Amino acid sequence: MEAVTMKALVYKGPGQKSWESVSVPKISRPTDAIVRIAKTTICGTDLHILKGDVPAVTDGRILGHEGIGVVEEVGNAVSNFKQGERVIISCITSCGKCEYCKKQMYSHCEDGGWILGHLIDGTQAEYVRIPHADNSLYAVPAGTDEEALVMLSDILPTGFEIGVLNGAVKPGDIVAIVGAGPVGMAALLTAQFYSPSRLIMIDLDQSRLDMAKRFGATEVIDSTKVDAAEIIRSSTKDGVDVAIEAVGIRPTFDVCQHIVRPGGHIANVGVHGKSVEFEIQKLWIKNITLTTGLVNTNTTPMLLKTVESKKLQPEKLISHHFTFEQFPQAYEVFGNAATEKALKVIISRDSD
Ligand SMILES: [Zn+2]
Ligand SMILES: [Zn+2]
Repeated sequence: MEAVTMKALVYKGPGQKSWESVSVPKISRPTDAIVRIAKTTICGTDLHILKGDVPAVTDGRILGHEGIGVVEEVGNAVSNFKQGERVIISCITSCGKCEYCKKQMYSHCEDGGWILGHLIDGTQAEYVRIPHADNSLYAVPAGTDEEALVMLSDILPTGFEIGVLNGAVKPGDIVAIVGAGPVGMAALLTAQFYSPSRLIMIDLDQSRLDMAKRFGATEVIDSTKVDAAEIIRSSTKDGVDVAIEAVGIRPTFDVCQHIVRPGGHIANVGVHGKSVEFEIQKLWIKNITLTTGLVNTNTTPMLLKTVESKKLQPEKLISHHFTFEQFPQAYEVFGNAATEKALKVIISRDSD
């Protein structure tokens, strides 16, 4: 590698960021790889970090935990990848050896988990250092749409594992998804693997609801106009089999606990900054299950096959394209998602 400096999106404390020159990362452990980023994106979590909601992220940290790129260099203990190979970067780093990794709970890896763009420098840069590269990268299959693959770093496995699998969606189920952001949409796309009878999307934004209809929602509810829980209760026998919470605030959690039927599941995906009120006095008798979670990304290889075969087309979730030099603009657009009608933004290296 020749370059010694690169451009990166650096967090400068609450409300502050800058696209600036920093040092190119180096291999620091034999299990590391250095990846030259080709395409990356911005996550709602990055906006939370910028607001100062994630105090573990300190001044000077390069943000980002999603992307694809080309392996530039590998440490001498890396055996699955070599220089020049195109890879998907998982948002979760996993050693593959610890107690949690042995249970495929990579999110709780004792030497990894969600660290990229959080505890170590992330992917919103020209190069990134990936620890435990053998277990934390996935080879890009030849001929696949690489923009679609960026959705495999985080949102597709998150919507699928924490929404659809934790919610135990089954054929014929009535499924409601509260929140039509990128992760809610990922749950909407992947819930269709199981042929639910009804897929109801609830949101405040009409343009996102229109998109949800195009992506397979059988019904959409604009909760600024009607009481979503009321409508769902009156149009079902006794509620929904699965309620997926994909926002992370009390009102949306309330919708879920007010529509779940006896024996049903509430799958919480949203990132909550404050407590909610869990109405256990009403729910204890209903045999419901409530699940929470951080994505493990253990389903990434399976999801990759469905993207390769075009069964799943996550490129639908991409609304905007930018180049690296337009990084600040990309943040501007993604940060004003409703007015900009933005869902996922792709930021690409000019020549790649
Ligand atoms: Zn994310
Ligand atoms: Zn581990």
